[in-house]
Order: sequence, then C-alpha cells, then structure tokens
Amino acid sequence: MARQTLIAGNWKMNLNHLEAIALVQKIAFGLPEKYYAKVEVAVLPPFTDIRSIQTLVDGDKLLLKYGAQDISPHDSGAYTGDVSGPMLAKLGCSYVTVGHSERREYHGETDEQVNKKVKAALKHGITPILCLGEQLEVREAGTHVQHCTDQLVAGLKGLKADAVAKVVVAYEPVWAIGTGKVATPADAQEVCAALRKQLAAAFGDDVAATVRVLYGGSVKSGSIGDLVAQNDVDGALVGGASLQGEEFTKLCAMA
Ligand code: PEP
Repeated sequence: MARQTLIAGNWKMNLNHLEAIALVQKIAFGLPEKYYAKVEVAVLPPFTDIRSIQTLVDGDKLLLKYGAQDISPHDSGAYTGDVSGPMLAKLGCSYVTVGHSERREYHGETDEQVNKKVKAALKHGITPILCLGEQLEVREAGTHVQHCTDQLVAGLKGLKADAVAKVVVAYEPVWAIGTGKVATPADAQEVCAALRKQLAAAFGDDVAATVRVLYGGSVKSGSIGDLVAQNDVDGALVGGASLQGEEFTKLCAMA
C-alpha cells in the first residue's frame, strides 16, 4: 500500500500567535492545492498559536494540517502547565509529537511516559508522531539500530496492531537535530528500514506497510529529495527550516 509522504514542521518554542498567522498564510500561498495530493503538510506550533491557526485553516478551508508538540497522559485534573488530549482534539489537532529528544533531554521524559502519551493521543483521535533516535555516542558505539528499535518497542508497549497502524514514527538522530548535520540518505534508510522490520515482527506485515516512518534532523529543501527517495523514508519532521515560509514550501514541493 502506498504511503502518503508527510512533511511536519516542528516550530519548537518559536513564533507568537500573530507571527504564526503570518507564517501559515505564507505556507498556504506558497503551496497550491495540487501539492497536497502527493504530500501531506502539517505544522506543529506552540500551544498558544493553535487556536489562531485553527481559525485560519477552518475559515480559509486550507488543506494544511496542524497539531501540537506535546500532550498530557491525563485527560484533565491537577497537572499544572499540561495540555490534554481532549483540549487538543477540540482545537482540531491532527498530530502531536511525542517523545521529541528535547523533551526527553530537558524534561527527563522516559520511554514509559512517552508510551502513555502515545496512548493518550490515540484515545482522542490524534495521530502521535513518536520521536526516537540515538545520541552521537550511541552511533559511534555502533549500537544505534538496537537503540532505536528498543525505543520503538517501549513507545508502542501495550498497543494492539490496529492502534499501531495509526501511529507515525519519526527517526531523529539527536546529533542531527538543529546541528546542520543531516544524516546521509543511506544512514536514514538503515534505521527506518530496521524500524519497519521491527513493526512487521511485532504487529504484522500490513501494519509495517501502513505506518509512516519519517526522518528528522537538519532537513532542508536541498536534502529532502534524496531522503524521501529511500524505500523506508516516508517524509520528514522539520525543525529550523519550517520557520522560513519560502524554504519550507520549497521543501514540501521537493518532497
Ligand atoms: C526537530 O526539531 O524535530 C528537528 C528535526 O529540528 P531541525 O530540523 O532544526 O534539525
């Protein structure tokens, strides 16, 4: 089954809600409708921007999808500062990144918490983009494939095959995020193929053939073509380049 390419822009902690409107307008202007038949495009802004983007996307009937960068494992309650699945669903979020390396590193998120967040997203009809990837020392030790498949197994623990089929996986080597050092297409393919093999072993060939596996880490318009040409790379999670309207639309058009 053909998997539609997905390009998701992770804005991280950048742009207020007015700047968000300006960037979404630029993206909408730069990507005419015909592109969306081949490539699905999503933006993942900070929580504070989502309502503005929802209004813009709904009002202008834009084909652009949007989502969030984190989700609470809980539906509601005394969890100061957190934002829940029902809140994100009400805002029309299609996607949420879970387990981004910056959350694992700066917020100490464990595989167990990541797993709970994947489940919370699925419970509320939001597609989790399960992020995983190795640090430089792991790659240098040559254990990166095992590291990534272990993170995948932990992130999907307790899920049935039909739920896993709805998940997006993003392979993001930590040494490539925000560093300008993009993985070679062969390096990205090696890990993405191993992740798909793991999905097949645990959940069956149909699920493995359905799940989209993205690459993330310093992707730009000049590198996306060779990455998505790999058999097991179904798109990209894009950080820095997703904040520049012209570069991001060029990247989407090249995907
Ligand atoms: C990211 O934050 O997920 C990311 C891939 O960032 P960058 O493209 O800036 O490396």
